[in-house]
Amino acid sequence: MRGYGNAYVKFEGANPTGSFKDRGMTVGVSLASSIGVRGVIVASTGNTAASAAAYAARAGLECVVVLPKGGVARGKLGQAMLHGARIVEVPGTFDNALEYVLETVLSNGHVEDAHYYPLNSINPWRLEGQKTIAFEIVEEIGVPDYVFVPVGNGGNIYAIWKGFRELMELGIIDRVPRMIGVQAEGAAPMVRYWRGLGEARVDNPRTVASAIRIGKPVNWFRAYRAAKYSGGMFIEVSDEEILTAQKVLGREGIGVEPASAASLAGYIRALREGLVDARDKVVLIATGHA
Ligand SMILES: *Cc1c(COP(=O)(O)O)cnc(C)c1O
Repeated sequence: MRGYGNAYVKFEGANPTGSFKDRGMTVGVSLASSIGVRGVIVASTGNTAASAAAYAARAGLECVVVLPKGGVARGKLGQAMLHGARIVEVPGTFDNALEYVLETVLSNGHVEDAHYYPLNSINPWRLEGQKTIAFEIVEEIGVPDYVFVPVGNGGNIYAIWKGFRELMELGIIDRVPRMIGVQAEGAAPMVRYWRGLGEARVDNPRTVASAIRIGKPVNWFRAYRAAKYSGGMFIEVSDEEILTAQKVLGREGIGVEPASAASLAGYIRALREGLVDARDKVVLIATGHA
């Protein structure tokens, strides 16, 4: 990347619905289809909805999308509707939407007496799909020293780490990069836990980056392990730093939504604080399209 000699941007915006979520959704929906459910259900801040709706449509399954009222980018909601998803809005944040899916639906496994398969990031098959990010990085540039990942529910940082680890177990690579999880200051439960300040939980998550506006990360322990056992860490950045990084990427010809720019914002901060060296080979995951 220009101006940052040894940093590479892995642009996930070129996936079919515009984010890395597609990598996991194609696996999850294939599984749902093979076990013969009527449809799939997801809570979402946007990209999961768009992705689940598209892959469910392609598989001929119904899709129910549970959204926090008013907390979702319009374009993403439009995408889900275009693919024929049924939208259920609940008051509160993403965390309340997920509770709705888990409590109302998983408690009896049914919506209106039909089986719906849950496809949130607790779903292990999605993580199996997302680990292909690591496979592609290794194919393209080998093993970097660091990978910076924006963290919301924490599934992606874990999945990418898992991908590297499996390549190492197979003897294809001989080390795993340090995984750096980047959160927004107003929604940084993992940073809080990492620093020993309490549970991985924030009650009123706030940030412009809606895709990582998560107060109770479902995969907090998996994400924690990814950072800890790779020798990485969790860091936080301000909304202002995120928006600046979004512009820097824009001038590079890479259009991303704010959450995706958190990885570059985190890298710039880590350089400034001496956590990484400018010579280190770094991959910044740009998680979704503008
Ligand atoms: C889902 C999403 C994230 C957060 O990923 P997690 O696996 O929940 O940590 C980050 N950026 C974008 C664009 C997303 O869609």
